[in-house]
Amino acid sequence: LNRRLAEFGTTIFAEMSALATATGSINLGQGFPDTDGPEEIREAAVRALRDGRGNQYPPGPGVPELRTAIAAHQEHRYGLSFDPDREVLVTAGATEAIAASLLALVEPGDEVVALEPYYDSYAASIALAGGTRVPVTLRPDAGAFRLDLDELRAAVTDRTRLLLINTPHNPTGTVLTREELTAIAALAVERDLLVITDEVYEHLTFGDAGHIPLATLPGMRERTVTIGSAGKTFSFTGWKVGWVTASPELVTAVRSAKQFLTYVASGPFQYAVAEALALPDSYYDAFRADMSAKRDLLADGLAAAGFEVFRPAGTYFVTTDIRPLGESDGFAFCRALPERAGVVAIPNAVFYDHREAGAPFVRFAFCKRIPVLEEAVDRLKKLA
Ligand code: PMP
Ligand code: GLN
Repeated sequence: LNRRLAEFGTTIFAEMSALATATGSINLGQGFPDTDGPEEIREAAVRALRDGRGNQYPPGPGVPELRTAIAAHQEHRYGLSFDPDREVLVTAGATEAIAASLLALVEPGDEVVALEPYYDSYAASIALAGGTRVPVTLRPDAGAFRLDLDELRAAVTDRTRLLLINTPHNPTGTVLTREELTAIAALAVERDLLVITDEVYEHLTFGDAGHIPLATLPGMRERTVTIGSAGKTFSFTGWKVGWVTASPELVTAVRSAKQFLTYVASGPFQYAVAEALALPDSYYDAFRADMSAKRDLLADGLAAAGFEVFRPAGTYFVTTDIRPLGESDGFAFCRALPERAGVVAIPNAVFYDHREAGAPFVRFAFCKRIPVLEEAVDRLKKLA
């Protein structure tokens, strides 16, 4: 393994899902739904396979039907207009979109400012691109993890190439507010930075929180690479269909990297996701309502089990602090949890460079059926 990747080892998701299987535990670790997306969309995939749509290499940027549907979605939901031919790129999941964007836009030695804790592929992809990651730590404040705008500003140097933002934020569940996004946008404009914004949980916001795409803020449309994923929005994580929307120059750059990573992927699934994106608003409302109820069930259950709970405003993850349980090391806690309670969770420390800042936090996924969550809560209540 080369020096760029040596520090990364096996992803925590593979490790913890293997532990769940080996111990027969309830897997609230890796974030994937235990209920597949809409039946009609599965049927659409089957039809595409049968009709021979996408069984051979689809076009490099993605099939036109999907690019058009992505552009229509951005227009309908956010009033953002993108040219499907020049400003939309289909990728093998958001993971490839992240990797290709960083590989395309970062020069060796460039600094990439990212919100910590961060999704694990960010650090590895920055490293592959030869960049240096500069984490800005989200800190617990009145029940949520918040961004300190002064710290963000102080993290930008002459070597900063881009900001890597994620909202709604995995693993904390924070949804950046308009005020925070406005400050990020002002900083990007002032320092002439590019921004990659991972918005894969765009449809998972709860209560008063609403997702605001960074690209809608003044000055951001032309400097922002926005990333989405059918895995999250339609509960088909195995299909690996993601996308990028950005200016023609940025999409061309990302495509230059993407073409040598996978060239293309997911032929028939691209057609099915095009149909999914055209589902009526009621689909998105029902999805959000379902996850909102599951959030409440798990958040309340974890609180009753003695955890300090950071009730998420978005995503399908809830971050907890284990110190009220007399624990302080999330790694040790998660390694012992299958044995102690038959449940698997993720230690947030893996998402930090400042490991000590993340040590007491543990993430549970609630994209699971209600009885599964109830059973998990019952088991966790026996910990106290
Ligand atoms: N970004 C974030 C914040 C995620 O949580 C995930 C999925 N865990 C991804 C990207 C990757 O998405 P995909 O499965 O579409 O590659
Ligand atoms: N995004 C998912 C999570 O955070 C996992 C994706 C993966 O396994 N790479 O749990």
